[in-house]
Amino acid sequence: MSFPPIREELRGIEPYGAPQLDVPVQLNVNENPYGPSPEAVADIAAAVAAAAGTLNRYPDREFTALREGPAAYLNTSGGSDITPDMVWAANGSNEVMLQILQAFGGPGRTALSFAPTYSMYPEYARNAMTDWVVGHRAEDFSLDLDAARELIVSRKPSVVLLPSPNNPTGTALPPEAISMLCEAVGDRIPVVDEAYGEFRREGVPSALELLPRHRNLVVSRTMSKAFAPAGARLGYLAADPAICDAIRVVRLPYHLSAVTRATASAALRHAPELLGNVAELRAERDRTVVWLREQGFEVADSDANFVLFGMFADRHAVWQGLLEHGVLIRETGPDGWLRVSIGTADEMTAFKDALTIVMKNESMKDMT
Ligand SMILES: *Cc1c(COP(=O)(O)O)cnc(C)c1O
Repeated sequence: MSFPPIREELRGIEPYGAPQLDVPVQLNVNENPYGPSPEAVADIAAAVAAAAGTLNRYPDREFTALREGPAAYLNTSGGSDITPDMVWAANGSNEVMLQILQAFGGPGRTALSFAPTYSMYPEYARNAMTDWVVGHRAEDFSLDLDAARELIVSRKPSVVLLPSPNNPTGTALPPEAISMLCEAVGDRIPVVDEAYGEFRREGVPSALELLPRHRNLVVSRTMSKAFAPAGARLGYLAADPAICDAIRVVRLPYHLSAVTRATASAALRHAPELLGNVAELRAERDRTVVWLREQGFEVADSDANFVLFGMFADRHAVWQGLLEHGVLIRETGPDGWLRVSIGTADEMTAFKDALTIVMKNESMKDMT
């Protein structure tokens, strides 16, 4: 056996890795370009200092106090009547999703999503030893609902992962579509991943409003995107309390550190201010879509804080060219497309300037 004696299906696999490069303009992992305000930083620091005095003890396993913040916040962000016992949280919604698969997937069970979709989903499925089935989105990245329902009915997945807005395309699912897919999933678990929910365009509802009608529905959110503190690592979901209770069986003991809780609770107290740049980021996103279309690119409609655009004969060359101008974006999604996260106005100007030069060079390459 070769060394190290890793599981056969993991041999030779590269770990998840968007390149982390120290360049001036970083528009590659959908972070919020605005850091927390000085007031939020001071409150977080004070909360962490208070927690530090208790670090000789394990924290409350059920994180009862922490559940209150997300519950109250969700009731201002598309949800209603969400109570703390309907909230589950973990170290990023990546961990939340893995726990869902550990609890509701597993050997002999299947998880399903529709590509192009979040690149981590098949990895969670693999890590939870769950079979992975992938359907496909239509050419405009919407879901063909009849085909989607048929696939769900025929494959009977235990977990269906529905990111809305979708990453990397930015496409949101209308509530009628989610409702219909929930019906098709039946007594198993549909998960609407709303990591980018706060960036939805006007008039696009959240799946939170469907919770009273679909007992098995899980809606997940994160503090990593609109809220900004990606570094705090806190993701959470809203679902029936029985679903939250079931996940307790697979969580590691004391999985949320006292420092994480203190940070997250303090950040949630500053929600209006941390979310204060969302309107600006949405406007910048819409301006970016318009500008890219004016340059002749194909651009997917986006309800998120990023934009997928193309088509490039050699997308890697364009990605590399932008990097040489100090602009890091993401080479992801279907071949021929690139994804840019929405940064500050200055960062977007740098992106547009660099892209203009790179495309000029690319077209000269074509002529020679
Ligand atoms: C960024 C992202 C998340 C959030 O990840 P965290 O672990 O909460 O930082 C979840 N789902 C999708 C589709 C994402 O793009």
